[in-house]
Amino acid sequence: MTIFEKIIAREIPAEIVHEDEFCIAFHDVSPQAPIHILLVPKKVIPRIGEADGEDQSLLGHLLITAGKIAEELGVNSTDSGFRLVINNGKNGGESVPHLHIHLLANRPLQWPPG
Ligand code: AMP
Repeated sequence: MTIFEKIIAREIPAEIVHEDEFCIAFHDVSPQAPIHILLVPKKVIPRIGEADGEDQSLLGHLLITAGKIAEELGVNSTDSGFRLVINNGKNGGESVPHLHIHLLANRPLQWPPG
């Protein structure tokens, strides 16, 4: 069981900002920006490269929900803005093998990423 499954099961605490039938979102414990939220599907998909056709609506739901959370946090404008990141595998920087989207905001973010 990954740490994210334990958060979903309320076995370990997290600062939850959103939950619905399909996903949960909470503050990252080691924030890389003033706003750093993790959006996690309740279905265990290890990483985006292992999602398949049956996950299509779930993946769409995650992206739409990320936009709604950005709106609620006041960063859904072209003036402020936000970045969504999915790390996949070793070179991608993945450390927790349960698909999650990082939502980063409230500081200028560099491109290309490090
Ligand atoms: P990744 O490196 O893309 O797999 O992202 C995993 C993220 O999970 C990192 O940004 C960690 O800081 C974050 N993280 C690990 N444990 C916890 C936790 N207990 N609560 C919140 N975020 C966590």
